[in-house]
Amino acid sequence: MARIKRAYSPLLIAALFAGVGGYILGCTPPKPEAQSQAPAEQPDAAGDSEQAAQPDQAGSDPGTASKYSPVKARARDFYAPNTEDLGPDEMRLIACGTGMPTARPKQAASCWLLELGNGDKFIFDVGTGSAERIAALQIPYNYLDKVFLSHLHTDHFGDLDALFVGGALAGRQKPLRVWGPSGETPERGTKYALDHLRKALTWDIDGRQGLTDPRGYHLDVTEFDYMGVNETVYQENVVTIRTIPAIHSLDGPVSFIVEWNGFKFVFGGDTYPNKWYAKYAKGADLAIHECFIAVPDMIDKFKFTPQSALAVGTQIHTAPEAFGKVMSIIKPRMAVAYHFFKDFDTTAAISDRIRTTYDGPLSLSIDYMVWNITKDDIRVRMAVVNEDVWPPPATDKPQLPDQSTRIPYSDAISGGRLDMKKVLQPTYDAINKQYGLHEKQE
Ligand SMILES: [Zn+2]
Ligand SMILES: [Zn+2]
Repeated sequence: MARIKRAYSPLLIAALFAGVGGYILGCTPPKPEAQSQAPAEQPDAAGDSEQAAQPDQAGSDPGTASKYSPVKARARDFYAPNTEDLGPDEMRLIACGTGMPTARPKQAASCWLLELGNGDKFIFDVGTGSAERIAALQIPYNYLDKVFLSHLHTDHFGDLDALFVGGALAGRQKPLRVWGPSGETPERGTKYALDHLRKALTWDIDGRQGLTDPRGYHLDVTEFDYMGVNETVYQENVVTIRTIPAIHSLDGPVSFIVEWNGFKFVFGGDTYPNKWYAKYAKGADLAIHECFIAVPDMIDKFKFTPQSALAVGTQIHTAPEAFGKVMSIIKPRMAVAYHFFKDFDTTAAISDRIRTTYDGPLSLSIDYMVWNITKDDIRVRMAVVNEDVWPPPATDKPQLPDQSTRIPYSDAISGGRLDMKKVLQPTYDAINKQYGLHEKQE
């Protein structure tokens, strides 16, 4: 029972820290065999001492209670970004968006960051609102250059522009690589969507020319066949990513299967329960699958008509009871449900319905939930993030832009400038002196 008690505490702490009470409801702790022994935290993260890194043992045995110290830090039971090493045989998954196409502060739309112990990081979906969650993790943007899109609904790629432009400005010094499915027609494919997204950003990117490091403002798009069944779409650095079709809205959506180091991670995009997921997600270490809002709540809270609630909530998407059925078939080490508003008065319905068809390890996800996955253990916690976040350091030296590429204002607009030369000259003088430069005002 100690394990179950412990599984709740990080959520409670995170909820208190984040000022978002109510998260704790409905996060079903995994079965003891799934969570087993949590590995000791990295000594660096724990503060210092061996005692500090072993709070569980101390807590479960009254005889060792003296290990607690009034002056030494105990190990954290939440995840603080940029404080823990990732082991060579470990994966970390962070939910950067778990919600819906309708925006809300508590939940961005679908976005998942997978970090592997070999240093690779992959973003699966980048739904509306998720770019700020990614930013909160304080990861240098050069490491966040690979995005895989399950389909082209805005709740799955609506913040790609923010990651693309904001990421370049925040230190991504290389193109943003994006993989996504084709469609039944070229106009419904990822390449078409992102070519046009890039065009829509013409004014934005033209205006940055000659001012900042130009290398990040490029999209490198790989479109793959949405019909591919377990076809490889990525293979680098001993990581293989395959896709399977999904059944959702129109032809085109897919799910992804990542294999690395003996681990299998599955990210399911939106779908009606389908045979490909049932077959190829089998035995996954961690399997994400959508799980829609229960139909009665779609009617009461989402204001759907009963007809639309049934059609959207059970036929276009996966209803909670159907999610449970899928997980009973594939039997993952950990099942992760998303794509519902997780509130104090909606979570029980989701959980109850899932439990009519599935009794295995389960996470009802919310933004900033974190999974550390090793061969022996899956540890689930909440991240506690700093809202006053600034860009992380760039991993390479910034490249000075060619100022001659700056596109000038027209004479008419330029002629509207007030004379601020005297006001600004002290700033130029101070910075030139401090950095040994000879910059001049325009
Ligand atoms: Zn969708
Ligand atoms: Zn969706």
